[in-house]
Order: sequence, then structure tokens, then C-alpha cells
Amino acid sequence: MQSTDKTYKCPICGKEHTDNTYRPFCSKRCADIDLGKWFNGDYSFEAVELDEQDIEDIAALHNAPDQNNQETK
Ligand SMILES: [Zn+2]
Repeated sequence: MQSTDKTYKCPICGKEHTDNTYRPFCSKRCADIDLGKWFNGDYSFEAVELDEQDIEDIAALHNAPDQNNQETK
């Protein structure tokens, strides 16, 4: 066995390969699948979380001073 005969295991299809062009993926197709999965999941997850948090924060900030003002008046 030579050190140049390195094998990689594709995390998408689990196939062992020696082509390191798209390592650790066996081909561009598997690399694209992983990238698309990661990007889509991360993007939608972050967008929904930030959106709800922002709306609640803004609503709280708008409500707090208003109620305080009415009570002191
Ligand atoms: Zn693959």
C-alpha cells in the first residue's frame, strides 16, 4: 500500500473512492447534494428564528414605554 493510494469515503453515498478532486465526496453530484442540503437547512432555520425573535423584541419595546407612560399620567 502506498501513501498515494489514499481512499476517501463519500459522506453522501458512502462509496469509497480514490479521486480527491471533490473530496471527501466521490463526485461533483454528491458534493452539490451536500452543499444544497446544508445551505437550504441553515438558511431557512436562521431566517425563521431571527424573524420571530425580532418581531417579539420590537413588540415588547413598543409596549413597555407606552404602558409606563399611561400609568404615570
Ligand atoms: Zn458519493
